[in-house]
Amino acid sequence: MRCPSCKLENPPTGLRCDCGFDFQTGKREQVDQASSAPAGEWVSQRRVNELLGRGVFFSLTWLMGIGSLVALLKGLEARRLIVGSNGRLTGTGGAWWCILFGAIGAVVWIPLVLAGMFNVLR
Ligand SMILES: [Zn+2]
Repeated sequence: MRCPSCKLENPPTGLRCDCGFDFQTGKREQVDQASSAPAGEWVSQRRVNELLGRGVFFSLTWLMGIGSLVALLKGLEARRLIVGSNGRLTGTGGAWWCILFGAIGAVVWIPLVLAGMFNVLR
């Protein structure tokens, strides 16, 4: 059974196509997620903005490298949300800022701590 709306081939027993076309009524129904998406989208974007705000803040404060690690983690989480949103969410630049500066800060910090530990043990 071919859907008259989107031309997708459906199983003969199918009552409804993926696009929302109902074979029984012959009408295309509103897809459920259309009404709930904007709210979820807004929450996710706010979450990304929050993560990036904190990430940038921590990347600048450094806090002996701890801030950099926090920034790196926030950046990675924000990027994961952005990538998972299929382009709905923005902030990739901010995420990369956090990842980059977080990584640089952490890379500077780790040898310092290792050197410190080495000095203490020696
Ligand atoms: Zn269809």
